[in-house]
Amino acid sequence: MPASFDHITTWVFDLDNTLYPPQIRLFDQIEARMRRYVSRFLDISLAQADELRAQYWKSHGTTLAGMMEHHAMPPDAFMDDVHNIDFSVLPPDPELAALISALPGRKLVYTNGSRPYAQNVLAARGLHTCLTEVYGIEHADFIPKPRPDAFAKVFTDAGISAEAAVMFEDEERNLQAPKSMGAMTVLVSPNAPTADYVDLHGTDLIALLQQIAATLSPPGGDRAMSGT
Ligand SMILES: [Mg+2]
Repeated sequence: MPASFDHITTWVFDLDNTLYPPQIRLFDQIEARMRRYVSRFLDISLAQADELRAQYWKSHGTTLAGMMEHHAMPPDAFMDDVHNIDFSVLPPDPELAALISALPGRKLVYTNGSRPYAQNVLAARGLHTCLTEVYGIEHADFIPKPRPDAFAKVFTDAGISAEAAVMFEDEERNLQAPKSMGAMTVLVSPNAPTADYVDLHGTDLIALLQQIAATLSPPGGDRAMSGT
């Protein structure tokens, strides 16, 4: 593996379809609630809502961002509604928790969802003790990934130095901004990367973390010895 992670002190994880496998299809529940919400809010059909949401996903990054800009939709009620789903479909993952806990440095979540929603997901996965620091869309003034200003705000507010950080994501387009800021990028997806801003790709987060852990200099190794 050409990429080295030895300089990484901050590990940033996307939430949906990254910290749980996409096969669980948790997001389907949110999608269903979003289309009903948009349909109700604008008094349009579900099919029209689908069309509008697809358009806003392309132009604005999320349904929420498009609805806020073009329809003055208040974000809080929308977020509460669409995230009111069944989390019991998410199995706990002690193996993933152990791998994340063992990473050297700071570990955090940055999601286009809200912090309370992310905390529900993390609790269901048993990841809430190793990932206590969570940044949601509300911490980026509701500006979504992939917009560079969203990453800039969250990284600045969180005191993250991009040059010492790595971002794990299932959506390739969300890795472009962190890469341009100097971060490393890992795509966790069944789809092979199409862009040159992906440093490492794999289909399974556990396998990727094992692969990365195997390349890290052990504590007490050369790095620790060099100062003595
Ligand atoms: Mg995701």
